[in-house]
Amino acid sequence: MYRDLDAQTREDLRLYFQDRDYMVVSVPKDELIRVYTLQANHAVAVAKRIHNLEGQRAELMGYAIMSALLLTSLVKHATEQKVLFKVQTDSGVVVSEADGKGRVRGFIEGDPQEGWVSGVLTVVKELRLGVPYTSIVPVVGRNLKEALSFYFEQSEQTKTYLDMHLEFTSAGAQAKAYLVQVLSGVSQRSIDLIEENLRNLSFLGKRPEEIAIEILKDMEPRLIGLKEVEYYCPCSEEIARSSLMLLQEEELQDILNEGPAEVVCKFCKRVYRFSREQLML
Ligand SMILES: [Zn+2]
Repeated sequence: MYRDLDAQTREDLRLYFQDRDYMVVSVPKDELIRVYTLQANHAVAVAKRIHNLEGQRAELMGYAIMSALLLTSLVKHATEQKVLFKVQTDSGVVVSEADGKGRVRGFIEGDPQEGWVSGVLTVVKELRLGVPYTSIVPVVGRNLKEALSFYFEQSEQTKTYLDMHLEFTSAGAQAKAYLVQVLSGVSQRSIDLIEENLRNLSFLGKRPEEIAIEILKDMEPRLIGLKEVEYYCPCSEEIARSSLMLLQEEELQDILNEGPAEVVCKFCKRVYRFSREQLML
């Protein structure tokens, strides 16, 4: 099933998503090229607000949120298969996670950008329950965009182009990105055309389908997939309780002697409190 990315499709998408975040998957008519385009304005603004971030750390968190969403190109569309993205440096860590349904969350500790050159980038794909697939590469380049490009070059077998645009405004965030995968067998003529289109591309004021149309200019773009994107944390009282149960009995008793035990979710800052009775100790 596909639809031509024509005026009618664009109008339908505009009416359906309005100003919500979403991701579009499109392909040209004749070549094995996949284009993922993303708008994550709200997800990035929510991450900034939840974690109370400013400046460099807000930017890094925003790029990490978009990176995890772009990496969902590696998992099955519309499933709960997950991708975890992490950059760890001597001065901090940034983590983000997204699933095939477009749900994303993340957190940051310290200022990873400070120790950038010492960094390690990890991508974990959870394709089926209990079978994670992990790739680790050194952090290369000046920023997260270049580091992610290097990851694709090293770890995935496909030729990839990607870029991200992030800007914080008084109204929130402008967060757009694309990932283009060129599968084997694509003609040099098409590669040259894509590269030329990418050189001329501007994110400014464009929706995901409009970015896709520019990338696939003169290639009869078709829409093959869509997903809404949102900052979502699936944490629960049950998960918080089981994290307490991982503590040593003695350690937990010490905490409970001081009052209720508290668990704060790293991803959404929700606080869970448990009394001794609630933990049935
Ligand atoms: Zn949470």
